[in-house]
Amino acid sequence: MVDKFRITNQREIILEELRAVKTHPTADELFDKVRARLPRVSLATVYRNLEWLCQQGIVQKIEVGGRQKRFDGTANLHYHIRCIGCGRVDDVDMSPVETLDHDLSDKSGYTIMGHRLEFWGTCPACSRSGGS
Ligand SMILES: [Zn+2]
Ligand SMILES: [Zn+2]
Repeated sequence: MVDKFRITNQREIILEELRAVKTHPTADELFDKVRARLPRVSLATVYRNLEWLCQQGIVQKIEVGGRQKRFDGTANLHYHIRCIGCGRVDDVDMSPVETLDHDLSDKSGYTIMGHRLEFWGTCPACSRSGGS
């Protein structure tokens, strides 16, 4: 996995804060959390470290609903569901459909590296408040 000694303390804190939440925060949201622990950190630093963590395959960037990029503390492939009411993004508890990649590879001749699948709807809280 990751060579701990090559991760700076800053990066470690950013990673910790990202993994502490399940909300798939944007860089700005994460910046607020990191700043509570590292008062002198800049947004640019948070961005740079997030990019680095993505490049290393430690975390991933997700784009949902064409909105601001969000970050995910886990790098494995999984699907997301987005609430059209409040904008929250949750993980979908369902295994990725790997046969999709194989099927498309056969049909198109492409070597498929992956795919994205996004669900949207209203979350339990929004369904409750909107239904009455
Ligand atoms: Zn909602
Ligand atoms: Zn996720």
